[in-house]
Amino acid sequence: MKTDTTEKILRRQVAACTRMLHAHGILGYSGHVSVRLPGTDRLLIQSFDRSRAELSPEDLLVVDLDGGVIEAPKNTKPPSELVIHTAILKARPDVEAVLHCHPETATLFTLLEDQPLIPVKNHAIRWADGVPVHPDPGHISSPEQGRDLAATLGKGAACLLRAHGAVLVAESVPALLVDGVHFEENAEALSRTLMMGRAKPLSEDEIAAMRGSFNRERHVAKLWIYYLGLAQGDGTLPEGWAKGL
Ligand SMILES: [Zn+2]
Repeated sequence: MKTDTTEKILRRQVAACTRMLHAHGILGYSGHVSVRLPGTDRLLIQSFDRSRAELSPEDLLVVDLDGGVIEAPKNTKPPSELVIHTAILKARPDVEAVLHCHPETATLFTLLEDQPLIPVKNHAIRWADGVPVHPDPGHISSPEQGRDLAATLGKGAACLLRAHGAVLVAESVPALLVDGVHFEENAEALSRTLMMGRAKPLSEDEIAAMRGSFNRERHVAKLWIYYLGLAQGDGTLPEGWAKGL
């Protein structure tokens, strides 16, 4: 283990975020969170098979942006869809953290002909410019597939993978947790809306007004503290993990 404080904190953030997303049903037996090690071409990510429900900071691997393993716990290997993370972090210097997950409801929107995943909840305005659907329904495991996926994501904050799942990107691990929760929450709200009738999309003016009055930094800080407290209280996180995060 490195003794660098930043890496130490990031390891704890990734492990905590993974456990919390698992507790919310956004991660299951697969899916992963990665974070860039600041100022390097390396990232932290969990292994292929360590349980998302029990992930610890020391379980994480250090991998470079070409997929080379720099540091790994004994008998571990990176996830098979590692290229999702390396390709996006390579293509997007503005992104620090990446989530790949298989959210139940959001993924259903990759199978509808005429109904894109639009924002119906106010916090989903983050994705109001559209959530592209990557057409490849397969496992994203080759460098070419990773590059194609990064191209579909473009400059956006999320994309869906047809019949497969989603990719979200954010400026930090706490922000990624918040996005993960809001993304599926919005998909569920839209799904229920469509059962009640036709969805009336938010107008450009409504979106602009909400964006203008929204303080993302403050919102992320508030929800990160809330979810850490919740997870600490119900045992999702071991005693003392929330301290200093
Ligand atoms: Zn996947």
